[in-house]
Amino acid sequence: MPSLEELLDFIETVMGPYARKVFEYLVELGEEASDSQISEALGLKVNEVRKALYALSEYGLLSYRRVRSKETGWFIYYWRINIDDINGILLLRKKEILKKLKERLNYESENSFYYCPVDGTRYTFDEAFENGFICPRCGAELIYIDNEKTKKILLERIRILEEELRRELRSPNN
Ligand SMILES: [Zn+2]
Repeated sequence: MPSLEELLDFIETVMGPYARKVFEYLVELGEEASDSQISEALGLKVNEVRKALYALSEYGLLSYRRVRSKETGWFIYYWRINIDDINGILLLRKKEILKKLKERLNYESENSFYYCPVDGTRYTFDEAFENGFICPRCGAELIYIDNEKTKKILLERIRILEEELRRELRSPNN
């Protein structure tokens, strides 16, 4: 299980520095807070705070309760941390993996690949083309790789992971 520091680093990498500040503030506060309260406490613009809150809630890290203001008639959202057990962290990891798998699938879909039958080096079409479809390492003729199978495997892993995430997000613990 990752430490809070690791979680904060993850948040900053994926959702930016404001999301990290907002999350850290809510951890220290230990109770729910409205967006205007958070923006005042951190000296950030309300819009920036809201963007961070939405990003964090998309990752299942926060949840909110909304109350209609008697004065203005508008909704006030009270946000709180949604991670109270390891499941939340595991969910995060899965989302991270899912994102990487999707990036890999994109890469596989947008490129075609060649490989050297002698040393096994893989080249993109552009790299192979630049070298006249000859391996720059050993001079062997490059062979086209059909990556349909790779794409199918990636798609299947993405499908399974998305299904798992859907199930877990529906469960009462999340
Ligand atoms: Zn070679």
